[in-house]
Amino acid sequence: MLNLSVLLSSTARTRPARTALRCGDQALTYAELDRQARQVAEAVRARGIRPGDRVALVSPNLLAFPVVYYGLLMAGAVVIPLNPLLKERELAFIFGDSGTTAVFTWEGSEQLPVLGNVRRAAAATPSVREVFALGELPDLLAPFPGTAEAEPTAAEDPAVIIYTSGTTGTPKGAVLSHLSLLLNARMKELLIPKHEHDVVLVALPLYHIFGQTSVLNGNVHSGATLVLLPRFDPDTALDLLVGHRVTLFSGVPSMFQAFLQTDPEGTRLCKAAETIRLITSGGASLPVAVFERFERVCGLRIRQGYGLSETSPTVTFCPWDEPIRPASVGKPVWGVDIRVVDRDDRPVPAGTVGEIVIRGHCLMLGYHNRPEATAEAIRDGWFHTGDLGRFDEDGWLYVVDRAKDLILRGGYNVYPAEVEQVLLSHPAVAMTAVVGEPHERLGQEVVAHVVPRAGARIDPDELSAYARERLAEYKYPRRIVVRDELPMTSTGKILKRALG
Ligand code: AMP
Repeated sequence: MLNLSVLLSSTARTRPARTALRCGDQALTYAELDRQARQVAEAVRARGIRPGDRVALVSPNLLAFPVVYYGLLMAGAVVIPLNPLLKERELAFIFGDSGTTAVFTWEGSEQLPVLGNVRRAAAATPSVREVFALGELPDLLAPFPGTAEAEPTAAEDPAVIIYTSGTTGTPKGAVLSHLSLLLNARMKELLIPKHEHDVVLVALPLYHIFGQTSVLNGNVHSGATLVLLPRFDPDTALDLLVGHRVTLFSGVPSMFQAFLQTDPEGTRLCKAAETIRLITSGGASLPVAVFERFERVCGLRIRQGYGLSETSPTVTFCPWDEPIRPASVGKPVWGVDIRVVDRDDRPVPAGTVGEIVIRGHCLMLGYHNRPEATAEAIRDGWFHTGDLGRFDEDGWLYVVDRAKDLILRGGYNVYPAEVEQVLLSHPAVAMTAVVGEPHERLGQEVVAHVVPRAGARIDPDELSAYARERLAEYKYPRRIVVRDELPMTSTGKILKRALG
């Protein structure tokens, strides 16, 4: 038997008095977190929730998230963590698609009536029997002692379903097993030297796989203190990094860009750098210009990892004992095979771009109730990512772009990420997203949406000429749109389809 919640119970045994979580002025030790999670398991069992039942958890990063998450796992339920920004229609789709039987939800606020949305979506979904508001958790748990043992789930049983991904259209539920998630969470101890007193800022949302596995599960297992930030804003995050003497931080590239916009002189970043021992980026491509700016401002070199919801997520990481190659996402991690293949699924030589495919313990069991989509994604045991990439001679992987974001201009391939790298090297550009627009003659034209750096002004003609000097004729953006901001998913990825 294997239950993912062993991550928590093992730390609760070895370091019971250590602070596990902080959020605002609230805190829980590992012993308290473990006891409350067991109470959740007892409470849901008493309410008729059985092993294998799907239970949704709609919440930002609050103390209640880990309590309910581990409690549901202990009860053998399959957790479906969801973004509280989802609308009623989106929630109803996921509840129905997954056959959700119960929902734990944050209440939300006047502007964001999450509980109301969840209740209406639940009422429209016959399988949902109960909705629990997180504010009522103390009453729900009070009658229970918190001594329950975790359900003896099998290693290959489903533990979590992640509905992916905001940037690609209709969501599908990637079903992840206890074993895949456990091994991925334990990757941290294989990848970086241990540190007894780690303090982690949890700015990535826990409903997303990156925050959930790499930040929550990985650090609960190693007994770190996690400081939860319910909603990312760079100002608060910088204060927390300094105030809590944070040692580990993981973010998406837009967070690092936001730090540089908010603290261009690096006053707080330099202070934070005194205690930070590892800073990681993943979830989207980290432009080299951002890596370099970050290092220049505060001396920290960002290490990249790469992964997907379907792979639990981490499949590559920048090795600890080798010098960082800023454009690379690192090397395949333990237990994961990665190939770059052509259209006929044949491996291509180092240096050649192809689709990245992945095999190993980290793979999802499949998409929930979608055998065809699963068979399409996993062929001969290899998961097809839809990402284009290449290896260098030393086995470092470079993610070139998503296959679907590729622009085909007059018969030539243009990788938006390459154009974005060049635009970001211009001193006036803070953020950019390059997309293809339909074009009568060429098929597609290259268009860049750009956000200026604080206090800077962008002249579209001058920027287009700057790119033209550095890129082949068919690649540079003919049209430049200056904007105040770019549309983002709540996990901090640029929502390119909203720019089309
Ligand atoms: P998700 O399933 O939401 O985690 O999204 C996974 C996708 O994020 C991948 O297919 C990649 O397109 C992208 N991604 C993740 N990490 C990186 C990275 N380090 N560099 C470039 N793209 C990344």
